[in-house]
Parts: sequence; structure tokens; C-alpha cells
Amino acid sequence: VETTLREIGLLEDVGSLLSWDQEVNLPAHGTEARAAQIAFITAEAHRRLTDPRFISLVRELLDAKDSSEEQRVNLALVLEDADRAAKLPTDFVSAQAELQSKGYAAWEEAKPRGDFAAVAPILAELIAMARREAEYVGFSGSQYNALLHSYEPYARIEDVLPVLLDLASSLAPRIAALPVQGADAAPLGFQLTVDQQRILCRKVIERIGFDFESGMLSESAHPFAETCGPHDQRLTVTFRESDPLDALYSGLHEAGHGLYEQGLRRDFHRQPLGTSVSLGWHESQSRFWENIVGRSEPFCAFLLQEMRTLFPGVDGLPLDAGPLWRNRNCITPGLIRIQADEVTYNLHIAIRTLIEVELVEGTLAVSDLPSRWEDLYQRYLGVAPRGHHEGVLQDPHWYCGLIGYFPTYTLGNLYSAMLWDKLKVEHTGVEGDIESGDFLPILSWLRNSVHAHGRRHRPLELCKVATGADFSSTAFLNYIDQKLGRLGTVS
Ligand SMILES: [Zn+2]
Repeated sequence: VETTLREIGLLEDVGSLLSWDQEVNLPAHGTEARAAQIAFITAEAHRRLTDPRFISLVRELLDAKDSSEEQRVNLALVLEDADRAAKLPTDFVSAQAELQSKGYAAWEEAKPRGDFAAVAPILAELIAMARREAEYVGFSGSQYNALLHSYEPYARIEDVLPVLLDLASSLAPRIAALPVQGADAAPLGFQLTVDQQRILCRKVIERIGFDFESGMLSESAHPFAETCGPHDQRLTVTFRESDPLDALYSGLHEAGHGLYEQGLRRDFHRQPLGTSVSLGWHESQSRFWENIVGRSEPFCAFLLQEMRTLFPGVDGLPLDAGPLWRNRNCITPGLIRIQADEVTYNLHIAIRTLIEVELVEGTLAVSDLPSRWEDLYQRYLGVAPRGHHEGVLQDPHWYCGLIGYFPTYTLGNLYSAMLWDKLKVEHTGVEGDIESGDFLPILSWLRNSVHAHGRRHRPLELCKVATGADFSSTAFLNYIDQKLGRLGTVS
């Protein structure tokens, strides 16, 4: 059992490395062979996990008297994963992995041209495969639940969608009450070259605790984080000349994912006790560092000080943190999810989730996706994309088969606000720590409260364990109201 688990872990690391390399380095003509390589590695891991001899050995070990409590928890989850994986034929898993890799490559090529027609056929195939996956593994209620389970285990869309839509209705009047703002309502007033952005991003990520001896930062078309080994955490960002701090905030987000992975138990690497509990919890970590810490007033004060030290020659840095904080909290309905503020962000997620469910349940055809997208953006955010590159093609998720992923972003926002409430009670000086750039108390707290558990608890159980409260939107709405209140009164 130990040997097989080790081999599966090695194969998964290699698969991740191949995906990371595809998004960061791969030449255009390498995509075909890369898809085949990923498919092969995925099939090898699947074959080992679903080998009947392995499964029966795991069962035996689970019943063995000398297994520790920790081993039993771990093995029970291995068995759960293996039983689910065994419902999928290896040929299917391999074909799906190959199509997902090809889909990413097709998206990467189509996005700059805004050419949705070029990727529509592969998207239709990916959705058909996702539906087949659901048929294989089985589901109760919506077919979408089978897919959601891969990202937020045990969650049901019948429960999640009302949370997202209720949140959207609660946020809508708050957004409508805001003063109408132009894109330059709170301009930054300074520029950073791409080299300076790179230096700042690395420096700040290191400062919050990311270990660059066990990780690295590079560039890709869309920011992401990938685990390629127990001491090999890859982060990527995208640099944009037009916003000197955009890459830093993507970097904080991805570093939040990376810190979670670096905080997991390495003695259980790629095994349940050494993996994240869910994507929603993963997003709670990334959104925590990006938003709750990163868009706070004390963090902006720290950041300004950091930029003054790093770039004494840069003109236009503000005299105090106020303008920086206002700029990072400019709440305006927009088109691009990853550039959205903390409030309207959740509307982007509600829209995507509605669409995903319709695509999977078969009530929306891929050919009607752009018009549905435009209708929903008009209805929820009052904006219309000028092309597919800022519409249906802006995110890679669907085109690389991540279908069922989107709701986890808002779940992450809700978890992160609950964590923040609990942290403030346990560490009353946390805001002072942020301002002085001492992030270790926060990281240690997250390590103990979230990272150390791996997958020991189910997502909603971890909520209770880590925050002491039942999952709800209340903490997030209070957090938003406090921020809106400060934005309204502080100049
Ligand atoms: Zn993320």
C-alpha cells in the first residue's frame, strides 16, 4: 500500500509539472505531444489507485489492529477516492485528461483573437465528457453534483446555488447605493516597470511567508498555483503595464494557495492527510491574503513603506496609504473577474455558476453560451463585453475541463471572512502586525487552524472546527458593510 501510494504521488507530481510547463514554457507545436504525455501519466496513476489488489489491501490495513488512528483516517479517505475512481474506466480518464490539455492550448490561442468559434467544438466535447463522468460516478439531484464533488466534496448545488444567489441579491442594493465611479476614480498616480513589479511581487510574497527554497514564481497567460513536489510549489502571475499593482495582487492570491500547500503535512504528501480539504478552502486561503489582508488599510500602509524602500526613485508614490487603499478598493461593476473588487467579484461567480449548471444539465447549448453570458452580465453587473476575450474567453477553466470549480471562489470568500472574525478575537493586535509587516502570527494561525488538518474534516466540519461557527454569509456581509462604511467616511 505504501509503495503504491508513493507511486501515485510521484505520478501526480509529474502530471502537475507537465501542466505547469505547458502553461509557462511549452512551444506551440508541443501541445499535441504534451496532451498525450499528461494522458499517459494520468492513466498510470488511475490504474494504480483502482487496482483491485491495492483496494483490498487498503481495506485489510484499515481493519488491522496495529494501524494508528491517523493511518485509519488517511486510509479511509484513500478508499473513498479509490472507490469513486474505480467507477471511471481508465481509458475514459486518460481521454479526458488529453482533451483537457488540448482544450487549454486551444483556449490560449483563441483568447487573444476573441475567437470563441475556434474553441466551441472542444468545449462541447469537454462538457459531454463531464456529463459522462457524472453518469459513471453517479449523483443524486443535479448531475452537476457529481462534478462539484471533485472541487467541494459533499457539497450540493441545491444548497450552494441559493447561497450564491442570495448573496448576489444582498450585494446588489449595496452596489447600487455606491456613487457612480469612473475607472480612474482613485488613480494610483505612479508607474512601475515590469521588472519593478516582479521585484515587488517576489519581495512581498516572501514577506508573508512563502518559502522560495520550496517554491518559485514565473509568468503565464492566466495566474495559477501548482504543486509539483513536497518542496516544489509553483506560482505564476501575469504582468500588466497598465496597472502597476495587478501582478502583486494576483501574486498574493496565488501565494495564498502556495502557503496552504507549503503548510500541509509533507509526511502525507499527495495523501488525504497531506492535501487540502476542498477548493473552497483553498480559495479561502488565497482570497484571505489577496483581499482581507491585501486590501486592508494596514497592509496598504506596509506596502507603501515597502515601495518607498525598494523604489526611492519612483515618482508619484502617495504621501500616506489612503489613496492606495482607495485604489485597491475601487468598487465598480466590471467585466473581468480576476480584476474585480471584493464585492462585485461574487456576482461574476454567480453568473458562471448559473451557466455551468445549465451547460451540465443540458439546458444551455455551447452555441448559446455567449448570448447567455451577455444577458447575465447585463442583468447582474450592467456591463457588456466588447469581445469574447473579455467575455466567455476570459477564464481558462471551462476550456481545460475545470467544470464545477467556480462556486468555490465565493465559498472561499465566505470562509475567509469567518476566519478573519475568529483570528481577530484570538489575536487582537493583528492589524498592527500587518502594518509593521509581521505576517508570521497570521500564517501560524492559519497553519494550525486550517493547513494542519489536511482532509481530516469535511469542508463544513472544518468551518466549525476552525471558526467555531456554522457556515453562513453573515461574516462576509458584515465585513463588506464595514469596508463600505469606511470607504464612505474616510477620505
Ligand atoms: Zn485561486
